[in-house]
Amino acid sequence: MPRHIRIVLVETSHPGNIGAAARAMKTMCLDRLVLVNPLEFPHTDASARASGATDILERAQVVTSLDDALAGCVLVAGTSARQRNLGPTALTPRACVRKLMAVSPEQEVAVVFGRERIGLTNEETDRCHYLIHIPANPEYGSLNLAAAVQVITYELMLAKQISQIPSTYDSPSATTEDMEILYAHLEATARNSGVLDPANPKHLMRRLRNLFNRARPDKSEVNILRGLLNALQHNRHGHDRGKD
Ligand code: SAH
Repeated sequence: MPRHIRIVLVETSHPGNIGAAARAMKTMCLDRLVLVNPLEFPHTDASARASGATDILERAQVVTSLDDALAGCVLVAGTSARQRNLGPTALTPRACVRKLMAVSPEQEVAVVFGRERIGLTNEETDRCHYLIHIPANPEYGSLNLAAAVQVITYELMLAKQISQIPSTYDSPSATTEDMEILYAHLEATARNSGVLDPANPKHLMRRLRNLFNRARPDKSEVNILRGLLNALQHNRHGHDRGKD
């Protein structure tokens, strides 16, 4: 079982869908299920729909935020039935699975699925490096949640049979936590320097998130950026003091 791939379900309303997703995962040799604030779980409907995959439900991790669900991940793919304007690059399941499988199994990756009614919010997709859109009927393209899990896990299963592309990074990839620290630092710097007006933030932070999600910096690159921000902040303070 590829233990480094986790399936994340965000605020699922119907416990039956959680069970069906667990069954879909087990048929495709995946077993790490993370549930962000499920409406009802555990539940008899979940166990019934999981059929022989109740072991996945028993081991499922229940967390209260998407950040917790993505802890330690170096690559995150969200899934969306909708095409979105601003946000991560949208790929087909096959193309995105190729990217996920290129990550070495010592590192963690996640595929995130949204709520039955409204999918994922923009804030949530901005935590993803890519969005997976399953090509479907343009007039009726929203799959049942567990059916979408089945399509993606099937692609993961197929891709596992193709040899993995070794990572060429000499520094380990930045994790979700590393990036959140960088974003907080960037936001504070943007605010202090007047670039970001808290009363009218526009899309600055979303655009920066999208930029870095495309670039996928490694840990040492994040450290360079943070060092640079610190130095600039320090100089600015020195400069301000000099004016007094
Ligand atoms: N109205 C919602 C549909 C949610 S369907 C929306 O517009 O996003 C529930 C979840 O199933 C989605 O959040 C996504 O994770 C997955 N899903 C359904 N259809 C999909 C598709 N065509 N491509 C990718 N994911 C899909």
